[in-house]
Amino acid sequence: MTQETLNPFHIVQRQIKEAVDALGVEPAAYEILKQPMRFLEVSIPVRMDDGSLKVFTGYRSQHNDALGPTKGGIRYHPGVFADEVKALSMWMTFKCSLLGLPYGGGKGAIACNPKEMSKGELERLSRGFIRAIAQIVGPEKDIPAPDVYTNPQIMAWMVDEFSQLRGYNNFGLMTGKPLIIGGSVGRSEATGRGCVIVALEAARVLGLPVQGARVVVQGFGNAGSVAARLMHEAGARVIAVNDSKGGAYNPDGLDPVAVNEYKARTGTVKGAPGTRDISNADLLALECDILIPAALENQITSQNAGQVKAKIVSEAANGPTTPEGDEILAGRGILVIPDILASAGGVTVSYFEWVQNLQSFYWTEEEVNARLEQMMKRSFSAVYRMHQEKKVPMRQAAFMVAVDRVVQAMRVRGWLG
Ligand code: GLU
Repeated sequence: MTQETLNPFHIVQRQIKEAVDALGVEPAAYEILKQPMRFLEVSIPVRMDDGSLKVFTGYRSQHNDALGPTKGGIRYHPGVFADEVKALSMWMTFKCSLLGLPYGGGKGAIACNPKEMSKGELERLSRGFIRAIAQIVGPEKDIPAPDVYTNPQIMAWMVDEFSQLRGYNNFGLMTGKPLIIGGSVGRSEATGRGCVIVALEAARVLGLPVQGARVVVQGFGNAGSVAARLMHEAGARVIAVNDSKGGAYNPDGLDPVAVNEYKARTGTVKGAPGTRDISNADLLALECDILIPAALENQITSQNAGQVKAKIVSEAANGPTTPEGDEILAGRGILVIPDILASAGGVTVSYFEWVQNLQSFYWTEEEVNARLEQMMKRSFSAVYRMHQEKKVPMRQAAFMVAVDRVVQAMRVRGWLG
């Protein structure tokens, strides 16, 4: 058996190469796209509550800005590493391109465990990080946003620090802010909502009835919890959800709102009333119609892809499936809505937020959700059409659409010689 490709940087390089080859574009395009155009590693000294000084490592990766300023979240996670941040910034380039957003791709991260830090420590860390990367970010350069374990409060501290440095308010610096300082209505739900819009489109093209469809959600953070609720509201039956501490299963369906309230109280979905415990491995192997991976990278691999029984996999997380896992899913006729499409709702509403900030003119939730739906559906059709016309898996189809647009921009800008 071939060695599993687990380094996300190598995975995304492979995805880009496949798309460049299939499109038959200039090989120079791959040479430019195979790494970020700029990568900054910073150290952030933080005074901890006990008086000691702790030095954290942070990163900001800017992959490619042919289509516009770079854009992408900031992740706080103890396990983050440089290659992972590079890969995440590369996926952002293609996510933005696929959705037709006027952005390139960026991503940031700090290696830390926010669950073990006090509010004051997190604030000092967040302010220190934005000071450390202030030279390379800004509303016209690179626009950060939330990602795994970061939230509107963290965005607010960063915007405030940056505004103090510049000497004037700079709300367009970050997206995913609290509403009171220029956040957009609909932004906090957007990733989960986008994932559900394309999952419902996939069900429609496959002729799968949504009423009573069994849904499994891996990860119950910002994306997963909203996706579970909206699937439930659409008439589907959410039979299992989990988080890093454990899982909750009920074959008759669970109430995502009640599970969310339970998690808010206890810190986990495990043990929610009316549910049975379920392991992560068993959850991914459940008999179901739609599986939504909404946690981290490398969850569906050569080891477990053969056990996935869903008809549709809608990837709300970035990079949840390895190339070897992908091949197995494709071979078994499972329709995968790839991450650069299924997780694009967040950055799409981030784009709306940035536009509202630049114009100081704010939209209603109906407008935000209607435009999101239109853009997600349009992108789904473009990918599905490529998938059918070229007879390639959905992921390759998505990369072909996305890479082609970036290449066109690089070509007209004269970057390809
Ligand atoms: N972190 C999110 C993502 O991976 C959102 C990025 C953004 O809104 O800029 O797509």
